[in-house]
Amino acid sequence: MVIIGSSELYAQAPIKFEVSFKEPQAHYVEVQMEIKDVSKDYIDVKMPVWAPGSYLVREFSKNVEGFRAKTVSGGELGVQKMTKNTWRITTGKEKTVLVNYRVYAFEVSVRTSFVDASHAFLSPTGIFMYPDGQVKRPAEVTIKPFKTWSRVSTGLTPVDQKQFTYTATDFDVLFDSPIEVGNQDVFNFTAAGVNHEVAMYGGGNYDKERLSADMAKIVESATAVFGENPNEHYVFIVHNYQSGGGGLEHLNSTVLGASRFAYGTENGYKSFLSLVAHEYFHLWNIKRLRPVTLGPFDYDKENYTTDLWIGEGFTAYYDNLLVRRAGFYTEDAYLQLLASDIAAVENRPGNLVQPLSESSFDAWIKYYRQDENSVNSIVSYYNKGALMAMMMDLKILKATNGEKGLDDVMKAAYNEFYKKRAKGFTDQEFKSIAEKVAGISLDDVYEMVNSASSPDYNKYLQLVGAELSDLNKGYEIPDLGIKTTISDGKLTVQNVYRGSGAWEGGLNVKDELIGINGYRIDIAGKELERTIQASKIEDVVKILVARDGVLKELDIKLGTNKSGKYLIKFIDNPLPEQSKLKDKWLH
Ligand SMILES: [Zn+2]
Repeated sequence: MVIIGSSELYAQAPIKFEVSFKEPQAHYVEVQMEIKDVSKDYIDVKMPVWAPGSYLVREFSKNVEGFRAKTVSGGELGVQKMTKNTWRITTGKEKTVLVNYRVYAFEVSVRTSFVDASHAFLSPTGIFMYPDGQVKRPAEVTIKPFKTWSRVSTGLTPVDQKQFTYTATDFDVLFDSPIEVGNQDVFNFTAAGVNHEVAMYGGGNYDKERLSADMAKIVESATAVFGENPNEHYVFIVHNYQSGGGGLEHLNSTVLGASRFAYGTENGYKSFLSLVAHEYFHLWNIKRLRPVTLGPFDYDKENYTTDLWIGEGFTAYYDNLLVRRAGFYTEDAYLQLLASDIAAVENRPGNLVQPLSESSFDAWIKYYRQDENSVNSIVSYYNKGALMAMMMDLKILKATNGEKGLDDVMKAAYNEFYKKRAKGFTDQEFKSIAEKVAGISLDDVYEMVNSASSPDYNKYLQLVGAELSDLNKGYEIPDLGIKTTISDGKLTVQNVYRGSGAWEGGLNVKDELIGINGYRIDIAGKELERTIQASKIEDVVKILVARDGVLKELDIKLGTNKSGKYLIKFIDNPLPEQSKLKDKWLH
């Protein structure tokens, strides 16, 4: 049997899907898949294990049931499960195979599917299967909405004259195109020459006119960085919940989580615009301009990269910066957002344990699988990556006398790797192009990326006349070194910070805090707080805890509170050069 070239033979016959909803109230999706041009006596059908953009093996096949395969005339075909996510169909001489399965969908997130009587959100890697080795085949999807539903919103290409039928040139496109089905509130706006569709599920106090105008400003501001917008049509699928957040990027669409009544508050509204900016910026950075290992994807296992500090960190830098440039944040308010990134990095012992490049590589087992010790062992490639972007930006502005900045690096990299070479970049290739734009070495930034250290932020901030200060500096504040929570009606330890008195003295996560120096600790922890505040550094306190039902008294020597209270301000009398670079930076 000839295997080589078999995928080319299939290149033109689309895999057809029909998606329907017999029992949406019970959270089920019915999928029918038609595979034509079967050439072997068996075919393996697979479901992806992860959703690109969210670096965790999620085992979507756990939600599949009732997998059956038939001939076109209805004859049952043999099916054998080969791996957790592979079904082998014995096809005999059949050229066309019909597959049916159901998917249970009840996980609310931007990267998992959810169905109930009110709507269906289909996150494609957890819904659609693919014939093994044939992800380059085109696909066609027909949605049959539940009887009370009337709309479908997706970035897939609609087929003329066929309602709710869409095509994808291959499975990479299909897997990158989430689908919202229901009665969502849809509005449109045009910006940067692109038609934008906003599909709102879940209601809320948003003002469509205001959002259209403001989202258009974000789109224009993001497009200005790269100099072109590659889409004709772009879809925002927005899920409004009592309390929602987060987003997932796609080529010509995004899924955003929002809190339905946060649009009415100043902070809530601006945070939503930052989320819009973040996911929109991704349509270039990571979806098109990307690390070499992030595409084409292997849907069967982890895809490793050391560059999420660029893919996610730079995007996290630009999200607030674009909102600032579009005029929604004042310069001072923007500086405070940077200061909160610095606090998130510096007040985390894991910052001095895990280099950024490792944080990216191990995202699958660490960032996406956080536990009680993560604060001590990992650093976020979002916050710290954003700070790397800031320092690189300021350094380039200075080196080029304000002629160039990080925008020029992003544009040059997009043109070189996506448009010219049509492939992803290696670590070294991105560094080279950034240094070419900067005209100087960026070794200092890369040293910070590859080591677990605290950057000297002021070395870069002073280039634009800004200064970081720690309001806690100089104060010796006694500290136990724990974070508490109330669990099962008891005050318990949630985290123990590396190097603190609690760490040295052996307080454990999950210990119930009962007494301090012979006195009862109340559930709010007030007595604990009062006693520590009234103590001195190096005093020993006696903490009574219950650990797995056993009472223990521990002697804990108090240390100093090491967390900083960060503030960034512009200096009073900047040099003309500093003012000039600041204006280039923030406008
Ligand atoms: Zn992101």
